[in-house]
Amino acid sequence: FKEDPGRGWVEEKHMEVTKQDFNADAVELKEGEVLLKIKYLSLDPYMRGRMQTKAKSYSAPFEIGKPLQAGGIGEVYRVGKGTTLKTGDLVLGFVEWAQWFVAAEKGLKKLEIFDGVPISYNLGVLGMPGITAYGGLMKIGEPKEGETVYVSGAAGAVGLLVGQLARLRGCRVVGSAGTDDKVKVLLEEAGYDAAFNYKTVKSLDAAFKEHCPKGIDIYFDNVGGEMLDVALTHMNVHSRIPVCGAISQYNASEQYGVKNLMQTVIKRIKIQGFLSTDLYGDQELVKNFTKDVVALVKEGKIVYKEHIVEGIENAPSAFVGLLKGANTGKQIIKVA
Ligand code: NDP
Repeated sequence: FKEDPGRGWVEEKHMEVTKQDFNADAVELKEGEVLLKIKYLSLDPYMRGRMQTKAKSYSAPFEIGKPLQAGGIGEVYRVGKGTTLKTGDLVLGFVEWAQWFVAAEKGLKKLEIFDGVPISYNLGVLGMPGITAYGGLMKIGEPKEGETVYVSGAAGAVGLLVGQLARLRGCRVVGSAGTDDKVKVLLEEAGYDAAFNYKTVKSLDAAFKEHCPKGIDIYFDNVGGEMLDVALTHMNVHSRIPVCGAISQYNASEQYGVKNLMQTVIKRIKIQGFLSTDLYGDQELVKNFTKDVVALVKEGKIVYKEHIVEGIENAPSAFVGLLKGANTGKQIIKVA
């Protein structure tokens, strides 16, 4: 991590790819440590917040001059004393944007391998974005049959799953995304009932009138800003808004001021933000998520997509791309 981008757009120049001599067979491991060969890294929008070193957020800022960090999947290459993991085991954990990483075994989770399911799904539909989609929708959205669920950022890691889960609950599902190709994926692959390109519609208001003629019962908000503002005016009485993120604001030099909050009183709307870290603390939810979503993926009832970029050296451009919408589905870096 080279430079704090401040409030504006993050660019590749804020990061730097460096090479160091490294001998995997010579590195010293302390008791309880393992050496991982990183296979996949997860790039996630919240990392943009961690690049603002002076702003307070829910996760600590990255340190300038140190490697960026991410969720990742690694293969155990060597083990230190007192470890239970073995060479060749695949694990999930919090690692550095690097090819190799020395980790404490206690912070790692051994991966369960499911036939026909790519291991990288553990960073997406079966991992953090998955529980975010599942928990936000089920716990806060509380979907009921026949309701209209609107999802912004619908073709991304979280959004793709939210719509499909809501549809399996008997809801009518509407999504928005930033390209026509993404809209096509929503309609033709992810089973969305309606979808629109928020960048090319005449107005967001007209798009909601056309695609949500009976109003919105659940708005799963991934983007915030003007989208949230306009959606508020289309919410039904006793509707719910799980606030998952506000990606439209992450690189904005000035934050958008939402004007329609009085709608929450008029329509008795529940708006609630949430964090995946809290959801992981709900053991019942984690149990249900694992049971439901693993089965749905294995049975092919949920379609999931990944946007895989190869090579750690391409991680900075992929991260900028993620924030600009280059990805359809989960943004992954294939390291090895
Ligand atoms: P995505 O895979 O959805 O990737 C980000 C997408 O955001 C881009 O592909 C782009 O798609 C869209 N986007 C970028 N700028 C804008 C904009 N100005 N307006 C609308 N859309 C925009 O990422 P995730 O699924 O991982 O994350 C989605 C949201 O959920 C983010 O806000 C993230 O911070 C949040 N999140 C929250 C968690 C929590 O614990 N609360 C956990 C995980 C994610 P497009 O082409 O459609 O513009």
